[in-house]
Amino acid sequence: MRFRICRLLLFVCLLPAFSTAAAFAQENALPEAPTAQPVTSPQTRKAAYPQHPSQHVAPARAAAEEPSGPHAFWDNENILLFAGVGIFRGLDYASTRNMQARGRREILLADAVVNNSAAFASLEAAGTMTSVGISYIFHRTGHHKLERWMSISHISVTGFGVARNYALTSKHPH
Ligand SMILES: [Zn+2]
Repeated sequence: MRFRICRLLLFVCLLPAFSTAAAFAQENALPEAPTAQPVTSPQTRKAAYPQHPSQHVAPARAAAEEPSGPHAFWDNENILLFAGVGIFRGLDYASTRNMQARGRREILLADAVVNNSAAFASLEAAGTMTSVGISYIFHRTGHHKLERWMSISHISVTGFGVARNYALTSKHPH
């Protein structure tokens, strides 16, 4: 029961990070919006769409998005990757608690931090925010592969830690 409350707390902590990043991305995406959706009156839209829906929409879209150009920071791939980072951070939190419950200590962090649920949850959330922030810097500087790899390596490293936390408890019975 305690675990659920703590994990809930963690995701509540994560929400501001996601929403600020989303707002930031939307702000940057704003200049594209007018070209993507031309303003038409109800009458002209009614007249244009039934006969030539593809002709009307496709050229505007093509002009707005360059095929090989930079993508929107908040695209589907990044949303999935950041969600993955957040989920693995949550798993790390849970697995560390699980390991501690069996008498093992978190070796990478001071006990004082880990033993304080709120502080530890904030730290996990801060880790996710930092990861998203670094991805954004890579994105802005044109390093789109590094931008993805930031999240992928974060998930891998955290995933390894989660596996280790659980493995330590089960492979060393007294
Ligand atoms: Zn990018």
